[in-house]
Amino acid sequence: MATSTYAIALGSNRWGRHGGPAAEIRAAIAALDGVRAVAPIIASAPLGPSLRRYANSVLLLDTSLSPPDMLAQLKEIERAFGRRRGRRWGSRVIDLDIILWSGGCWHGPNLCVPHIAFRERTFVLRPLRQIAPDWRDPVTGRTVRQLHQLVDRARPRD
Ligand code: ADP
Ligand code: MG
Repeated sequence: MATSTYAIALGSNRWGRHGGPAAEIRAAIAALDGVRAVAPIIASAPLGPSLRRYANSVLLLDTSLSPPDMLAQLKEIERAFGRRRGRRWGSRVIDLDIILWSGGCWHGPNLCVPHIAFRERTFVLRPLRQIAPDWRDPVTGRTVRQLHQLVDRARPRD
C-alpha cells in the first residue's frame, strides 16, 4: 500500500472538553494515527474578528489515506471536538487543515492542497519549519524555510 506524508496544521482558540486551546491541540494530536513529528505548540494573535488568542501547531503524519479521505478524518475529529454541551454550534475548538501532501497538488470540490493561504501564515510556517524546513512547496518551488523567511521579513514582529 502506497504511503504518503501530510503536514497538518492544528489551531484552537476555545476551551473544549479536553481543556484550553493547547489541551485541545494535544488531544487532537493523540486522536490521529501515523503521527511522526509534532512542532511545539505556539500561541498566536487572533485572526479576524475574534479576540481570543490561538494555540497552533503543525504535525507530520504517514498514512495510506488519499487527500479526500484524510480530510474526512480531520473533519470527523473536528466534529467530535466541536460540540459543547449546552451550546449551539459556534466556532470550533479545533481547526485541522491539510497544508502539504507528499503527492504534490490536489484539487477537488472541497479540497485544495497545498492549503491556499499557508504561504502567508506565520503561525503555520514557523511550526512547520521546525519539523520540515526542506519540504518544497510544489506550487512556488520554495522550501518551507524560504517561505517562512519571506513572511518573517514582511512582518518581523510576528
Ligand atoms: P478555515 O480552515 O479557513 O478556518 P474551515 O476549517 O471551516 O475554514 O474550512 C472550510 C472548508 O475548507 C472545509 O470544509 C474544507 O472542505 C475546505 N478546504 C479546502 N482546502 C482545504 C485544506 N487544504 N485543508 C482543510 N480544509 C480545506
Ligand atoms: Mg480548516
